[in-house]
Amino acid sequence: MTRGKQKIDAQKRNAERNQKPKGSQLEARAAALKSSCHICKAQLANQNQLADHFASKHPKEPVSQAAQT
Ligand SMILES: [Zn+2]
Repeated sequence: MTRGKQKIDAQKRNAERNQKPKGSQLEARAAALKSSCHICKAQLANQNQLADHFASKHPKEPVSQAAQT
């Protein structure tokens, strides 16, 4: 019989759904800190701040584009 398995699957799906809000908040935060300096690991809110950071901290390094997807 598959009834028991279906129940377990449903519980798993509910658990995943209940965890989603937390995860999406973290994702939103991660998205807000998308740009990070690959040299000193400083996290910047966006590419402009990253460019400013590079200009002041690593003027001889090319600006990283790695964090952009
Ligand atoms: Zn840096």
